[in-house]
Amino acid sequence: MNYGTITKISGPLVVASGMKDTNMFDVVKVSELNLIGEVIEMHGDDASIQVYEETSGLRQGEKVVSTGEPLSVELGPGLIGGIFDGIQRPLREIVKVCGTNLPRGIEVPSLDREKQWVFEPAVAVGERVFGGDVIGTVQETEVVSHKIMLPPDKGGIVKEITGGTCTVDDVVAIVLDEKGQEHGIGIMQKWPVRKGRPYSKKLSPKEPLITGQRVIDSLFPIAKGGVAAIPGPFGSGKTVTQHQIAKWADADIVVYIGCGERGNEMTDVLNEFPELIDPRTGKSLMERTVLIANTSDMPVAAREASIYTGITIAEYFRDMGYNVALMADSTSRWAEALREMSGRLEEMPGEEGYPAYLGSRLAQFYERAGRVESVGKTPREGTLSVIGAVSPAGGDISEPVSQATLRIVKVFWGLDSALAYKRHFPAINWLTSYSLYTNSLSDWFENNVSDEWNSLRETVMRLLSEESELEEMVKLVGIDALSPVDRLKIEAARSVREDFLHQAAFHEVDTYTSSHKQYLMMKLVCEYYEKSLEALEKGADILFVSSLKVREKIGRFKYVKEEEMQNEFDAVLSLLAEELGTEEKKED
Ligand code: ADP
Repeated sequence: MNYGTITKISGPLVVASGMKDTNMFDVVKVSELNLIGEVIEMHGDDASIQVYEETSGLRQGEKVVSTGEPLSVELGPGLIGGIFDGIQRPLREIVKVCGTNLPRGIEVPSLDREKQWVFEPAVAVGERVFGGDVIGTVQETEVVSHKIMLPPDKGGIVKEITGGTCTVDDVVAIVLDEKGQEHGIGIMQKWPVRKGRPYSKKLSPKEPLITGQRVIDSLFPIAKGGVAAIPGPFGSGKTVTQHQIAKWADADIVVYIGCGERGNEMTDVLNEFPELIDPRTGKSLMERTVLIANTSDMPVAAREASIYTGITIAEYFRDMGYNVALMADSTSRWAEALREMSGRLEEMPGEEGYPAYLGSRLAQFYERAGRVESVGKTPREGTLSVIGAVSPAGGDISEPVSQATLRIVKVFWGLDSALAYKRHFPAINWLTSYSLYTNSLSDWFENNVSDEWNSLRETVMRLLSEESELEEMVKLVGIDALSPVDRLKIEAARSVREDFLHQAAFHEVDTYTSSHKQYLMMKLVCEYYEKSLEALEKGADILFVSSLKVREKIGRFKYVKEEEMQNEFDAVLSLLAEELGTEEKKED
């Protein structure tokens, strides 16, 4: 056993000497309290240790013991519905054992050791299996079939395999490798969090992650396997947007990491999520969700680990062939933890005190997203989409974390405090936001929703950008100086903003809009615009076309239930034709 002794304590940083046999990133137990820490720097004999628990009361000379293993997570049945802290300690179980005041050094296994699962083998004795192959399944929740995969470094001939009830500690199969050595395989495996799980091929994303949020799906879509960032000042709607995506995105598995953005926020998630019903299955949302929670009373260092813990769990489900969506709220809090440790290590500070490696660490994290083909003999295709919230102080995205993030991500949903102030939600600014997936997803929308999708989207985007130019003119010369056509553009753009983009997260119907309904909504606004344009050309008055009764119906279309929308859509279109028709008749 390798012992060291504490020589220095500085907040979450502990330096210990006598550690020369320890490896970088080994997990260590600090003092008699057994506080969990991770070696983040080695200088000869001295190890700098990031401690994931409160270090007050530690003294120089106390012992530090290395476990000889890197920080790892347990992967197996029991993850879904779990609520873990940054180093995968199960929060609910800890609360059961010792109440809400998290004691230090507590050891509770990440996955329940008692729980019985039913393992159903998918391979037979004598079969050759490779690392990554699915050897069986466990129905983990009603909606998730947990594929039991051979750890990537194992392989050989199946010597024994037993179905039936088992716990995560039991051996369910024995595999004989090439050297004739036997390996016991359980339904759980471990993986070091800082190392991405292997895959055989990275593929380019081709399908959208449908979120039911109109401004996202229609204007700035994210692909399954894509990366997006939501930067925005306090109160602009980062959390609501992340929650909406977690609730509604068409992902098989959701991993939600709360990096202690605000104290009570995580409690919201803890209380709110278990009560939410998954619209696709009618079951609790927790049946497909893993929560990683860092409440604000936990040490900052645990936040640093939490995004790795979260993404490793996400990769594991991706390897099963699932579409996984990971939300991190917020990466700014994570970067602050990085900055704090870097400061304590007395590293040369970069911009605003962040370490020079901030950008590369962020890139390493986001790089783990993607659409991939798994390893193994029968490859599965899985996706891992990552959506990171960034909370720059004062909303100024010129700061280092936002800038480093923008260099990496392909989708940018820029939240705007001015829109939030006007209560236009989601406050995603349509002029500054972008999605680099728009082109690669356009075929999907044409084939799966409507062949008019892309042209409608273009019209909508054009109206919005023309509106912003026209507004400048209006400021100078007044609305009356504009041509009727330009005034119609302003009216139509207003309809795009108010009737289409504005979406109330807390309204029963409006909270989610299917792609087909989004198409119908864009179509209504564009029909209004185009038919009115024709009417103007035939001599109708701008005041007449801007005050058509049908406009109110277009505005209320968002509240129409999916099952009634087609009828309502037809009714709105005929009212539009009727109203414009009477005008034509009058002129005849
Ligand atoms: P942030 O996480 O950026 O600080 P929040 O997500 O907590 O901001 O949003 C602040 C408030 O804005 C919310 O409490 C809610 O009232 C309102 N809000 C944000 N997004 C929406 C939305 N899509 N629909 C309705 N209200 C919203």
